[in-house]
Amino acid sequence: MKLSQTRWQTYKDNPADAEIPSHQLMLRAGLMHKSGAGLYNLLPFGLKVIKKIEKIVREEHDKAGCLEILMTVVTPGELWQESGRWQAMGGEMVKMKDKGGRDLCISPTNEEAVTDIFRRLIKSYKDLPVTYYQINTKFRDEIRPRFGLMRGREFIMKDAYSFHENKACLEKVYFQLYNVYCSILNRIGADYKVVEADAGAMASSDQKTHEFQVLANSGEDLLVYNDGYAANIEKAKTKRILADFDLKGGTPEKIATPNVGKIEEICQLLGVKPHLTLKTLALMGVKGGQARPVLVVLLGDDELNETKIKNLLNADHVLPATEAELESLKCVKGFIGPFGHPQEMHTVFDAAINLDAFYIVGANQKDFHLKNFRPSRDSKNYEVSDLRKTKEGDLALSNNLPIKITRGIEVGHIFQLGDKYTKSMGVTVLDKNGKGVVPLMGCYGIGVTRLAAAVIEQNHDEKGIVWPEAIAPFKVHAVLIGRTEEFRTKALNAYEEIRAHGIEILIDDRDVGPGFKFKDAELLGCPWQLTLGEREFGETGKFKLTNRKTGQATEISPENVAQEIERVTKQ
Ligand code: ATP
Ligand code: MG
Repeated sequence: MKLSQTRWQTYKDNPADAEIPSHQLMLRAGLMHKSGAGLYNLLPFGLKVIKKIEKIVREEHDKAGCLEILMTVVTPGELWQESGRWQAMGGEMVKMKDKGGRDLCISPTNEEAVTDIFRRLIKSYKDLPVTYYQINTKFRDEIRPRFGLMRGREFIMKDAYSFHENKACLEKVYFQLYNVYCSILNRIGADYKVVEADAGAMASSDQKTHEFQVLANSGEDLLVYNDGYAANIEKAKTKRILADFDLKGGTPEKIATPNVGKIEEICQLLGVKPHLTLKTLALMGVKGGQARPVLVVLLGDDELNETKIKNLLNADHVLPATEAELESLKCVKGFIGPFGHPQEMHTVFDAAINLDAFYIVGANQKDFHLKNFRPSRDSKNYEVSDLRKTKEGDLALSNNLPIKITRGIEVGHIFQLGDKYTKSMGVTVLDKNGKGVVPLMGCYGIGVTRLAAAVIEQNHDEKGIVWPEAIAPFKVHAVLIGRTEEFRTKALNAYEEIRAHGIEILIDDRDVGPGFKFKDAELLGCPWQLTLGEREFGETGKFKLTNRKTGQATEISPENVAQEIERVTKQ
């Protein structure tokens, strides 16, 4: 492609609202333009990258026997009514009415639509398993769209759905798709971890689900791992190493702590370690619009894992109690304790708490704490559950080894859904005895546009993007520097020869200075830069091929230039 004909434009400055490298670089390198919050138009070079990712995704799914379909982006509300998600989906799903007053939505995901396709086509166990997939636009009205393609509102996803007669078959296909995802990420050259994940509202929490996480400092997810264990922090099962609880204690004793409500301040005032205190959080678990209070008790230096309390309460979400709610519950902010509430409160102690040890807790009275509080003696009607957030240094429950924590970008998520959708939508197939059974489902999503951004997070330097060859807009970015007609013809002939050989090449034939051209080439970040420089050519009779990542340059002969490029780039 000749750059003079592409209308490509780059930008020197980072846009004010672009916080992370991939967002900045995709805009600056002219891969996309913003059209609105969480909305981006892909320009020619950006689209090339997306098409390459799609090709890899498609090839790997086809190889595994998945069937490509294309579902409508707008789906009828009736399907969502059937599954019960018309109400449950919340504000991320954009709903609308057509001119006849019928409900429609812009698909945020497609379990209902694909289940409808399935129930019309498949009647017998003999046609199972089957996996459908599509590469299509999704819309989610995200609470905080940000980071460009990383968390857009409109984005491209590959979503796949598998159907099975039984659990064993689901398990088998689930791991086939797991391997498809690994192959895709390996081909793209991503550095990633597969982690155990929380099923959220997609399935019940005992069904398997894994996330594919590209490792990057800008990642929104925290990953807990060691040799042999990896989980999203939301799901991680770990324990803390702790021995020195206060096991002697005594009788409860109220102590004055004027204006001292924070754990650190209490510890300083009384000269105790934070884990010898308990923090009590007053929260509201909200389900179906109904809010119920709960007291969560943690060791003083632990934090709450919000996913775990949400799952325990089976709530849609969990919020801190408001000032008014605290007042009606007779909880004094900063001094809440897990005992003696006038109204019976649902109380949950974190599993790391030694219930027979003695602690300092809030006294349920302004400016007072209680010493020698012993949960097993002084609290009533409580339950115990693992609710604390995993910390560096914890041991994984599965192998008792210390864990580390790192950041990741979730690019893929796979679930065993079970019969959630097939059951609610009344789907059956005939088993071998001619009896109707409800098929089981798996679903598998990979963010195509998010993946492009995630790859840039891992592959860039101060000059620009450093594309891995598999998804680079072009393999070679040629920079033509020369004024004479004779040299320009020679250079353009070389370009034609390379192109005819099937190597993807972009040539910068614009009428601008060399400095400008090199800067743009580095910003766009194609893996190989070919300098077609008149002066150098005059001195050496050679062109120069430079590796964008390593900076290593090789002189190549203009004879058989395409083969020369192949030889050098294969090394
Ligand atoms: P997240 O927790 O990041 O919101 P999710 O759990 O909502 O993701 P899924 O519903 O599992 O995501 O969707 C499958 C994949 O689609 C994700 O792994 C991600 O790669 C991509 N994806 C989801 N939401 C977005 C978005 N707003 N912008 C870009 N890609 C997205
Ligand atoms: Mg989401």
